[in-house]
Amino acid sequence: MKNIQTKKTVLVTGGTGFLGIHTILQLLQQGYHVKTTLRSLAKKDSILKALKEGGITDFSHLALIEADLTTDKNWDEAVKGCDYILHVASPFPADDPKDENELIVPARDGALRVLKASRDAGVKRVVLTSSFAAVGYSIDAKDHIFTEKDWTDLNAPLPAYIKSKTVAEKSAWEFIEKEGNGIELSVINPVGIFGPVIGGITSASLDIAISGILNGSMDKTPPFTMGVVDVRDVADIHIKAMLHPEAPGERFIATSDGVMSFYDVAELFKKERPQYILDVKELQPIGKEFYKEMSNEKAETILSWNPRSREEALLASADSLMGNQ
Ligand code: NAP
Repeated sequence: MKNIQTKKTVLVTGGTGFLGIHTILQLLQQGYHVKTTLRSLAKKDSILKALKEGGITDFSHLALIEADLTTDKNWDEAVKGCDYILHVASPFPADDPKDENELIVPARDGALRVLKASRDAGVKRVVLTSSFAAVGYSIDAKDHIFTEKDWTDLNAPLPAYIKSKTVAEKSAWEFIEKEGNGIELSVINPVGIFGPVIGGITSASLDIAISGILNGSMDKTPPFTMGVVDVRDVADIHIKAMLHPEAPGERFIATSDGVMSFYDVAELFKKERPQYILDVKELQPIGKEFYKEMSNEKAETILSWNPRSREEALLASADSLMGNQ
């Protein structure tokens, strides 16, 4: 009890999302006071259900606030009294919209709203969930291992989601430089996030790569590979970046070791969980030239972050989705 009383208050934006809910769960388990925003309080029950499934029984340290990234309403209220902000919310649909601004505007303006409100409220540090999308798209990947020094080129033709994450992260760093007034920013750049589903809260990454393979709706291997990371480790790296003295001013790629094509994922499921394969199609392997590597050395070295393997993350998703945890 004493421990809980001395802990700080953290706002997690986007508590209804796959990463948001796992982050709230870990913070509550560690005794923090947690505030979270959601677009509509109508989704409150899904948050409570997931946290109960995660073992939380006392909700007295959790506050829910309605706030949308596209309006100013309630953001001052959301950040009030917070020591740290984990800005996780951003639109992440399975398909790109016709108008890229449907993603770019909430991603960029939402990040700026959160940063401004946090600065004005005297918050110590904001950790922004960016993406590998802001690091590794549009340069020739051949023989190149992506690191935090790399940036996706906004002058190249980019899918809307990739562009939204790149624009949002760049805007956040610009804000800190020009108008931050001392507030600290640290950025996490996760690759494809997998791992266990709680309370039925999934995300586009799970819907595409796990459900799509298991139910057979994915019938050919797209010509790319992805890094894989477990949602529990992404929540953990946000908390590490929130606390570590060397995290401000830095971005951290969050990935387990190695990359996989969707063929590799299907082969893993066929080998390890043949009982789940409902109507799996014969996906074809893709050439090694499509394998695009990235490094997790910075996060491991500075933050002492040790992610689970990609196999463990993917199998945990399959197990929780197929109801056999
Ligand atoms: P998710 O489950 O779709 O979560 C997205 C969250 O953002 C939801 O809570 C959603 O709220 C919220 N949101 C979207 N538009 C909003 C708006 N206009 N106003 C307020 N909230 C809004 O996906 P996720 O995987 O947890 O994504 C969390 C973060 O990780 C995002 O920043 C995403 O870009 C980043 N990321 C994800 C992956 C991945 O593979 N999953 C990889 C790299 C980075 P609703 O429930 O109301 O829609």
